[in-house]
Amino acid sequence: MKNILVTGGAGYIGSHACKALRAAGYTPVTYDNLSTGWADAVKFGPLEQGDLTDRTRLGEVFEKYKPEAVMHFAAFSQVGESMQDPGKYWRNNVCGSLTLIEATVAAGCKQFVFSSTCATYGEQDNVLLDEDSQQAPINAYGASKRAIEDILRDFEAAFDLKHVIFRYFNVAGADPDSEVGEFHQPETHLIPLMLDAIDGKRDALTIYGTDYDTDDGTCIRDYVHVMDLVDAHVLGVKWLENGKDSRVFNLGTGRGFSVREVIDHSRSVTNKEVPFVEGDRRAGDCIKLVSGSERAIRELGWQPERSNLQVMIKDAWRWHQNGHYDK
Ligand code: UDP
Repeated sequence: MKNILVTGGAGYIGSHACKALRAAGYTPVTYDNLSTGWADAVKFGPLEQGDLTDRTRLGEVFEKYKPEAVMHFAAFSQVGESMQDPGKYWRNNVCGSLTLIEATVAAGCKQFVFSSTCATYGEQDNVLLDEDSQQAPINAYGASKRAIEDILRDFEAAFDLKHVIFRYFNVAGADPDSEVGEFHQPETHLIPLMLDAIDGKRDALTIYGTDYDTDDGTCIRDYVHVMDLVDAHVLGVKWLENGKDSRVFNLGTGRGFSVREVIDHSRSVTNKEVPFVEGDRRAGDCIKLVSGSERAIRELGWQPERSNLQVMIKDAWRWHQNGHYDK
């Protein structure tokens, strides 16, 4: 079986990617420092503990497993935190990724799948974002991811490191088998926070801003199911295996939901009230981020099957009630 090095394989998206890789006949080798991930979430291949900035440790792991490709998820990913502590984002996300990319090239590995974000686009005028939309991030998280995209382009030109970049919209849901799921500490994302509020694990959800220029005053996001998202990553590995050119793909659904609409759907899925309060805007938030994903469907053959808000909330709710990790 071919080895794929999965950085951040102990995290939310990385652990689901490992499951999908395993199902597709690869061995996912998780490289993770467990700062935000969980050893318990590494179920589908070996775990190698290490930091992205540790070049020596990375070299050992490349030498041991000789991965065919790298799938790079490990990153800090909170928009709000990135506005308060930008250095953390530039240091870890950018310097860490640069170290990883250098180690990849030094090991002779030529294929790199990168987890980027719609936050690289920033605020745009009510348009459906596609891969050619201008990138103008308005927060340090998005800026750090855009910088890594630039590094990949330079390393392709210099060393022929081929890449697939996925720009995700809002990832939600969980493995329907509840083997892995979303478990952040602290949690900052809308749907898991809402589920916590619904079953009394926290007092109430705070809606960040109700005076945006949208129909109901709250921000609009495009939610994509984590299982569909990781399927696209497996297709990305195959794309590079087949010798195709480096490419960028958006992963979303083309349909946006406001925070209030997500609350309504959560109420109908769980049959419970969602306690919420209306709060101030969160620094760094864009009003609306909605993706055009035709390219991934047309070129990669991506077939998102679970990216319906009801299904995402249902799967997240099942995991929320049954699943957790221990350190
Ligand atoms: N949001 C909110 N309250 C929360 C967390 C998030 O109103 O406690 C809003 C946030 O302002 C954004 C949307 O929910 O409009 C999605 O935020 P999340 O942090 O889940 O993902 P992001 O879009 O920042 O990647």
